[in-house]
Amino acid sequence: MLNPDNYTRSLRQWFYGVAGLPWTFSRMKTGRAGNEGSLLVLCYHRIVGRRRRGGFCDNHLFINLPEKVFIRQIKWLTRRYQVVSLDRVLSGHRLPQRSALITFDDGFTDIYEIARPILNFFRLPATLFLIGSVIRERKIPWITRLHWLLDHAREKGLKLGDPSLPGKNGYPGGYADILAGTKALLKEKDIHEIDEYLSGLEERLGAAPPRELAERRFISDEKIRDLCSMGWTVGNHTDHHLNLASLGHERVCGEIKDAAGALSRFKGCRPVLAVPFGVEGSFSPQTVDAARMCGMEYVFTTCGGPNRFPGSGAVLDRVICETFSGLYFRFLASGGKKAAENTLARMRPARRRQ
Ligand SMILES: [Zn+2]
Repeated sequence: MLNPDNYTRSLRQWFYGVAGLPWTFSRMKTGRAGNEGSLLVLCYHRIVGRRRRGGFCDNHLFINLPEKVFIRQIKWLTRRYQVVSLDRVLSGHRLPQRSALITFDDGFTDIYEIARPILNFFRLPATLFLIGSVIRERKIPWITRLHWLLDHAREKGLKLGDPSLPGKNGYPGGYADILAGTKALLKEKDIHEIDEYLSGLEERLGAAPPRELAERRFISDEKIRDLCSMGWTVGNHTDHHLNLASLGHERVCGEIKDAAGALSRFKGCRPVLAVPFGVEGSFSPQTVDAARMCGMEYVFTTCGGPNRFPGSGAVLDRVICETFSGLYFRFLASGGKKAAENTLARMRPARRRQ
């Protein structure tokens, strides 16, 4: 299914899905699915009950996955992999040859409302990566504030005529560009600068998020405790969801330790970190070293998958699953995208030499 909010991205996914079919099937035919002695880690954000029109924040391809697609992916997963708990990964014991771990980032309420009953039905455990400041102060993360702001501006037909905002200013349809551009602009900044910048924009547009947004959108302590009692685990997603690659050692440690302090109230809390954004460029070898120094046993990225396990060290790559295309999802899960990117990366220096 194509998402009208982002046709280009949807079409690109279909293209990759179809182009990657030979790879995907070759991996599956050999019974490996790219996963012999390996661990596939899936990364989700929000699972939404039905597609809601009108709100970019509540209906876009970047972090939302419709419930029925989630069910389809989980069914596919259980037929081909053994889903394991984070504790089993941390135990250091040998894992089944084709293991998978399910993770959710940022701690949205719909994980409890929608994903939990589905995973309970299949008797599958999962891990939540939570943001420290949301847990400690019920502070709305800057990314959610930004999504809210753009949503509001679009609904009211307001122009985001801020010269420092990149993208095609203010025209519906160009919001994906504005969102991506502003995220890129802000993720290099300090949290105080980001807060100030967003407050300025909110004031100018009259679009401050309602007080209850944090309560409504982010999972409560009580619900997290309930999930922990069902065997779910909780991991660290830093204190403010900043781009760790842009921070020095001390500040990376501060982000991790502050979040660890806030999350220690949950009995399911484990020493693992999911790097915010998680793509290449949002972390560095120094980030991983800092995380290890702060006691994190594994650092999860979103650089694709699957991982050799054991053997991939402290960094575990995850596959982002927010796509409507089943073909593309299978291509990602079978490691096709990662393999293609590795091949391209190997080709690049050779090209430069020419
Ligand atoms: Zn996140």
